[in-house]
Amino acid sequence: MDNDNKLDRFLKLGKAGEGTYGVVYKAKNKLTGKNVALKKIKLQKFYNKGCSEGVPSTAMREITLLKGVRHSSIVELLDVMYTTDKLYLVFEYLDLDLKRYMDHSKQPLEAELVKNYMKQLLDAIAYLHSHRILHRDLKPQNLLVDKEGHIKMADFGLARSFSLPTRTYTHEVITMWYRAPELLLGEKMYCTGVDIWSLGCVMAEMLMKRALFPGDSEIDQLYKIFRIMGTPQEDDWPGVQLLPDFKAAFPKWLPKNLRDIVKFNNTEEEILLKEMLTYDPAKRKTAKELLKYNYLKTAKLTTPDLTAFPVEETIDEAGPS
Ligand code: ADP
Ligand code: MG
Repeated sequence: MDNDNKLDRFLKLGKAGEGTYGVVYKAKNKLTGKNVALKKIKLQKFYNKGCSEGVPSTAMREITLLKGVRHSSIVELLDVMYTTDKLYLVFEYLDLDLKRYMDHSKQPLEAELVKNYMKQLLDAIAYLHSHRILHRDLKPQNLLVDKEGHIKMADFGLARSFSLPTRTYTHEVITMWYRAPELLLGEKMYCTGVDIWSLGCVMAEMLMKRALFPGDSEIDQLYKIFRIMGTPQEDDWPGVQLLPDFKAAFPKWLPKNLRDIVKFNNTEEEILLKEMLTYDPAKRKTAKELLKYNYLKTAKLTTPDLTAFPVEETIDEAGPS
């Protein structure tokens, strides 16, 4: 296999970001002059499913599947290269992730921008779910934005063949802020609703400019959710008490009015968010259903305010541009 040679086609320009599995580089394809994101995954540490070295066959199957994913709001996987201990994924490059954008903006995102982003993200989720792909790790760090107003999902799919790690390669704790309550309560048969919950948390954060449920441990995460949404009960979530990690001794908080916590711009926004943060995964609406909501009917491409981001131009090496 000449994957090492294939790698020579790319010129590393710098670090684009860091995540769970390793560093993501900004690189340039020397042939086309296009910028790409080069994601390096070291394999030994993360193998599972009975594979002792190399790319697990489940991961390979999944990557093949991801290469077939084409959607305007999903970062395109352009190529895959692998050696015995490393996997390189080549993606289209976007300048900024939503976390950095929110960290730098002085105010919550504009109502029109939130709507624009929610429309694109629900569209992408509906597409993924219709192809039986779960994202499982939707969070601002995994959503990339550009100056035209597009938002694209990154970092999906692989999570299914690799076990969900709890710490990154630099030993940072992986955030649980966007994790659905059924996952936190140990449900093994979770489904598409986990992505809808995460997207709800992201929407709230765009409106609040801070995280809705910023837990720092699994139990703190659950309690952060319970304090706002109320401790889940059998009548709003049948079967919740049977979940592996549900405890009868959980403190019983009453639900608060979301309106007192999130500063909504209008009631349509409020309705959509409430649907997404429905406790019972069976009652949580699907992306396809949510796309029919009035709120999204008036969504249009809206540009983010990037004045605080002087887009740093990387020095171009010789070659076509
Ligand atoms: P991990 O699985 O390790 O979390 P990600 O794919 O989420 O890796 O990438 C880590 C970070 O790298 C992201 O949070 C983002 O800042 C940056 N990044 C990832 N993909 C791209 C891309 N296609 N274009 C630009 N930056 C990216
Ligand atoms: Mg990530």
